Amino acid sequence: MRTIRTVAVIGSGVMGAGIAAHLANAGIHVWLLDRVPERLTPEEEAAGRTIRHPDVRNRLAREAIIRLNKTNPAVFFEERCAELIRIGNVEDDLHRLKEADWIIEAITERLDDKRELLRRIEPVWTPGMVVSSNTSGISIAAMAEAVGPELRSYFLGTHFFNPPRYMPLVEVIPGPATKLDVLSGMKQFLGHRLGKGVVFAKDTPNFIANRIGTYGLLVTLRLMAEQGYTVGEIDAVTGPALGRPKSATFRTLDLVGLDTFVHVAKNVYDHASDPAEKATFDTPELLADMTRLGWLGEKAGQGFYKKV
Ligand code: NAD
Repeated sequence: MRTIRTVAVIGSGVMGAGIAAHLANAGIHVWLLDRVPERLTPEEEAAGRTIRHPDVRNRLAREAIIRLNKTNPAVFFEERCAELIRIGNVEDDLHRLKEADWIIEAITERLDDKRELLRRIEPVWTPGMVVSSNTSGISIAAMAEAVGPELRSYFLGTHFFNPPRYMPLVEVIPGPATKLDVLSGMKQFLGHRLGKGVVFAKDTPNFIANRIGTYGLLVTLRLMAEQGYTVGEIDAVTGPALGRPKSATFRTLDLVGLDTFVHVAKNVYDHASDPAEKATFDTPELLADMTRLGWLGEKAGQGFYKKV
């Protein structure tokens, strides 16, 4: 694999934006790409913009940088780190990936979408360029099937935790064909340049942390419904009292994003053969209802808690 100087992050949501900032803090150049939005905002319409205007086409990645700058505690070490991030979209700027030594896929947690994106990346990919997915638990092997053997040997899972600047660990998930020098090179880079501990995880549904974490959160949600506890009561006992000062149950769900959590839980549900395991990982109706309402957590300004 090549020396990593430039990284392209695709998907500028909760994780993609945070990973981009962490890379920029380490002095690495970043391309941050998202989709072209489906429709104009009322402000864009009033300004006479069309969907062809670059400001509209790059809106999602630009808004991510604005959010990063407002994040408290700050995600950038200093202001000039943000200047290392250039923004774009996957329709107009896919050729920019040629500049990257590592491409990180951090789009919505759906296998079909991830596979389609990998197929689009393949024509601009060149040997030596690492490609990884930040998936919370989708099979790396199933994603790798979307591309040919050469790219497959440079493909792996690199699962950062949320928030990427502060969480000290990355799960690395080798795919069935990942070259050994890619795995050792990435371990070295994640450790030495990005300051992350690495745990190699097997390519099983939700890997290690999310298999256990999702289980705990779902059991807690069920207990709350059965026993009639409030969000505040559950967070009071599942946060600092359990030695987790910042990760009480509902604060965590809001931080993760309820839509993402539903996808992650469904991944284990879909792969479970044991009825008891299936029942455990079935999405509680409360989460499905909140997701339908758009109460997705911090990123939507409203989840179990409301941003004021
Ligand atoms: P998110 O919903 O906050 O953001 C996803 C972003 O991807 C959106 O901005 C969306 O517009 C963009 N996108 C969707 N399809 C795209 C495409 N085809 N091309 C370009 N951009 C596209 O999601 P997230 O929470 O950032 O999660 C991203 C990935 O990271 C998922 O695989 C998720 O499971 C994983 N992950 C999430 C967390 C977490 O706490 N949220 C933690 C670890 C890993």
